[in-house]
Amino acid sequence: MLIDTHAHVNFVVYKGDGDEVVKRTLAEDVWLINVGAQEDTSRRAVEYAQRYPAGVFAAVGLHPIHLRAEHTEAHIDEYETVEFSSRVEKFDYDEYKKLAQEPKVVAIGEVGLDYYRIKNNESGIMEKQKEVFKKQIELAIDLQLPLIIHCRNAHADILEILNSYFMIHNSKIKGVIHSFSGRWSQAQEYLEMGFYLGFNGIITFARDYDRVVREMPLTRLLLETDCPYLTPIPFRGKRNEPSYVKYVAQRVAELRNITFEEVAEVTTRNARELFKI
Ligand SMILES: [Zn+2]
Repeated sequence: MLIDTHAHVNFVVYKGDGDEVVKRTLAEDVWLINVGAQEDTSRRAVEYAQRYPAGVFAAVGLHPIHLRAEHTEAHIDEYETVEFSSRVEKFDYDEYKKLAQEPKVVAIGEVGLDYYRIKNNESGIMEKQKEVFKKQIELAIDLQLPLIIHCRNAHADILEILNSYFMIHNSKIKGVIHSFSGRWSQAQEYLEMGFYLGFNGIITFARDYDRVVREMPLTRLLLETDCPYLTPIPFRGKRNEPSYVKYVAQRVAELRNITFEEVAEVTTRNARELFKI
């Protein structure tokens, strides 16, 4: 079996057929964690999880791109741009805390920093993002849940913030750097703090992270799709879905020169340990 540790079947693009997608996923012996980006998508992630007796989990959190108003090309990374206007939301600690205490919620996420296309720190948006990121780290510590961290062009600040909490809370702060996009040296810093690194379809069509995938401990690697985005080869150009996590697993196996079964076994164990599922 495999676990897609970062899916968004809770997003509106699956409105018509989300449950079919989930059933197809479970039928392939793949579990999934739907990750929220705002309060409504977090709530929908919880609802999905509660509709299924097994194999579907939720993460709740406020994504940094939803802290500023402008129309933006967004999410993802340098490989893919999606046009959408982000709805601004203020972080309400108590609301998210309530949501995070629902059954089947296994993480706080996605949270983090996203400095893509921020010019001259317009209206203090970087400070705003840091402030909300810190509040959500505190929520994760409060509830003893792992973090699912989004980072775009902001590894230095993320590392600094995580380090400051790590010095006080040590192994009580844990999580995954989802869709890891840093350098090898940054990967090592996250690994030293006990964090996991998540990889998705990007590794099937770009070579940037081959070294990290090859050299990091397999016991810290998580598989994800980030669906509907970042569809792996051989389905580039189509909508992504959780069952395609198998193509990510296959690529990890190739890069490390080990079997698919070994990748499946170790990464599934990693996910079950981190998210306590
Ligand atoms: Zn995501």
